[in-house]
Amino acid sequence: MSYIEEIVDLVKKRNPGEYEFHQAVEEVLTSLEPLLDRHPEYWEEKILERIVEPERVVIFRIPWMDDRGEYQINRGFRVQFNSALGPYKGGLRFHPTVNLGIMKFLAFEQVFKNSLTTLNMGGGKGGSDFDPKGKSDNEVMRFCQSFMTELYRHIGPDTDVPAGDIGVGAREIGYLFGQYKRIANEFTGVLTGKSVGWGGSLIRPEATGYGAVYFAEEMLKTRGDSIKGKTCVVSGSGNVAQFTTQKLIHMGAKPVTLSDSNGFIHDPDGINEEKLAFVMELKNIKRGRIREYAEKYGVPYYEGERPWSIACDAAFPSATQNEIDRDDADTLVRNGCILVSEGANMPTTLEGVDVFLNAGILYGPAKAANAGGVATSGLEMSQNAMRLSWSADDVDRRLREIMTAIHRACASAAEEYGHPGNYVMGANIAGFKKVAEAMLDQGLV
Ligand code: NDP
Repeated sequence: MSYIEEIVDLVKKRNPGEYEFHQAVEEVLTSLEPLLDRHPEYWEEKILERIVEPERVVIFRIPWMDDRGEYQINRGFRVQFNSALGPYKGGLRFHPTVNLGIMKFLAFEQVFKNSLTTLNMGGGKGGSDFDPKGKSDNEVMRFCQSFMTELYRHIGPDTDVPAGDIGVGAREIGYLFGQYKRIANEFTGVLTGKSVGWGGSLIRPEATGYGAVYFAEEMLKTRGDSIKGKTCVVSGSGNVAQFTTQKLIHMGAKPVTLSDSNGFIHDPDGINEEKLAFVMELKNIKRGRIREYAEKYGVPYYEGERPWSIACDAAFPSATQNEIDRDDADTLVRNGCILVSEGANMPTTLEGVDVFLNAGILYGPAKAANAGGVATSGLEMSQNAMRLSWSADDVDRRLREIMTAIHRACASAAEEYGHPGNYVMGANIAGFKKVAEAMLDQGLV
């Protein structure tokens, strides 16, 4: 058994049942072999053993009262995984599937993603098994207040700065910030994704989706190609999917699908600005289902299915983890897909990733392709610290520069370590190296 296999095995034994965490660790560590060959100090000083263990995990009770006056109890989490590069930074997810394994996979990925952004941020993630679907605004507010009543003592602008993720958008960030401010008696940049009127950054809502398209464009450039005119399949219909679709439209591509956890719509004519505005209202305000798009525009709706069977040039998974398995990946490649840029976190299984790598298509893994969101959160933190607000053009320009820099870092690491064009290896090596060097510098941490 190789050293890396031993560590993966150890992680599985020490963290039973945390399957998504095992998957994320395996994906990162197995691509580090060429790096470890050149840096024996990493294994001599047990960097791998240290880096797979979170610095701190907080699990807590969230009691709240629903509109009928009944007591409800949920479970809250904050995983503070690694602070070698800066304060912990990463989103909060409210979804019934949330458990410790999912929190740890997301926090682990976040460490290397944040390292790639070129900004100084450590990695963390949190959330709850609370399901905001079907809850009134008042119930969501009471839940957020109870969640923050415990979380506030573990976070701070120089300690840990949470943001949104699945189920946590502008409404939830507002309620969470309001409660933090009451308890801490401080108006600070303790959360990102705030509304623009009170400390949020322009372009933060757009950043993850826009960034995933910028990353796709950078990958295409290496083959003398561009996203213009490409038919694109997008999954999800939340924040990341909406702004991926918007940027695809702006750049002259044709997005043809959107989905939610019930099914997907296929619009062969392409989703345009007007149809996207309908989706934004449907999802962000009415909180309806994507099926209603099919009813309004008379296009097919596929109940209980994912969109990967639709022929496309490029795919933008933007819903959730493990939404593309080996068969889906095979289907995409067989139907002519030449690019995958991951807006969602770990949307492709390990077997699916192998299919993309073996086919030699342009495959941008999440920690690189969707890093635009957290990078812009980093820009929000800078603006808060300076008590300034930058213009939309300014933030968008910085976002684009950061995505270009991430692409460059991944491409050159892949090349340097003998696997040109392999963005999985490039992203893992470039992200890991910076964290490992900081940990060595900081002694036994
Ligand atoms: P939203 O809550 O805004 O949207 C999530 C979308 O994915 C919804 O359409 C939802 O459908 C769908 N979805 C969620 N869970 C499942 C599931 N189990 N099966 C099928 N569909 C599902 O979240 P975001 O857009 O913010 O996040 C989407 C992905 O992007 C996540 O993987 C997240 O971690 C990642 N990400 C987000 C960032 C951000 O800035 N927001 C930054 C980097 C990554 P339904 O409405 O039916 O639940």
